[in-house]
Amino acid sequence: VSALRETSRRLRALGLTRATLLVDERRARANIRRFRDRADAAGVLLRPHFKTHQSAAVGAWFRDEGIDRATVSSLGQAAYFAEHGWRDLTLAVGANPLEAAEYDALAADVRLGLLTDSEAAVTALAAALTRPVRLWLDVDVGDGRTGVPWQDTVRLGALIRCAAASPALEIAGLLTHAGHAYGASGPAAAAAVFRESLHRLRACREALAGTVPGPLALSAGDTPGFSAVRDWSGLDEARPGNFVFYDLMQLEAGACTPDDLACAVAAPVIGVYPDAGRVVLHAGAVHLSREVLAGPAGPCFGRLLSLDDGGFGGILPGWSLASLSQEHGVLEGRDATAREGLADLEPGDLLLLAPVHSCLTCEQFQSYRGLDGAVLERYRRP
Ligand code: PLP
Repeated sequence: VSALRETSRRLRALGLTRATLLVDERRARANIRRFRDRADAAGVLLRPHFKTHQSAAVGAWFRDEGIDRATVSSLGQAAYFAEHGWRDLTLAVGANPLEAAEYDALAADVRLGLLTDSEAAVTALAAALTRPVRLWLDVDVGDGRTGVPWQDTVRLGALIRCAAASPALEIAGLLTHAGHAYGASGPAAAAAVFRESLHRLRACREALAGTVPGPLALSAGDTPGFSAVRDWSGLDEARPGNFVFYDLMQLEAGACTPDDLACAVAAPVIGVYPDAGRVVLHAGAVHLSREVLAGPAGPCFGRLLSLDDGGFGGILPGWSLASLSQEHGVLEGRDATAREGLADLEPGDLLLLAPVHSCLTCEQFQSYRGLDGAVLERYRRP
């Protein structure tokens, strides 16, 4: 029996009828444990970014590993996890003065961390906050998205003085996201970004010594760098997020192996075109997002995974999701074996797609399913 048929049979046995995001819990838990062990070995606090899964059910797997703090990227996510018992959360996007009153309300229940690189935002927070909040200073170590450039310690010093004047703001430390690790050409280059970022954060902290009464903690987090480097020592806090599920982007960057891919979209076959070597799935941009990899044979929006007895299997070679429209995904068989397997398929079958970027694919779904059929609830944006 072909791997395609067997995968379809197993997906149908789960009772799935439409595009559904499946999570392989065993793999996700292994990914969590690996990073928890690295953090423990280095004496670093793991504060995983929950923007990838945004699910209280998945959060509970972190809790099982002793992790009771997290990072989020919106006030809505923060409120959702607070409702599910998370009491220590950092909102790691630049603080928005328009939300200051809501931060203050949240801080009644949560040990809340906020992030900024702006004196205007600090002033607005200072005016609105009545409860203690931890403030992280956003430092740009080379990504060029947000943050005060790491060399600009004059500006960082001014920010610290401004925040120190507010009784509600406790200065937590220097926080960075080295997003440029995503542009690295493999694990060695991602490791170099990690080391350079740490070096820059430490240099920055040294230059600022004496401007704050307490120590400045150092917080960083990105999946390519933290996957490439085993020893995280030197940091105080680690905030990677994508590692819980990984994805094809991380696989291509050498950050994970196919066995680490822990979420995938089960997608119904709605058209089979053997002469063209093509299968069309009811899984388009609204299910997968439009994230794409540039492959040697053209763009790739997803790859096929097999579903084995114990969970997700390997990537089925010879297949690539070559184009996407709103609802349709066009799967191309690129070798003779793939094209032969295609003859076994018909509408009513289901196939399993590994996404290019799991964070954005998860965002397309209102809940996920475990391989045991369990529904995994997640945050829903209003
Ligand atoms: N921290 C911040 C501020 C981020 O923006 C992100 C991701 O965008 C992360 C941590 C987690 O990084 P990753 O998605 O590479 O795991």
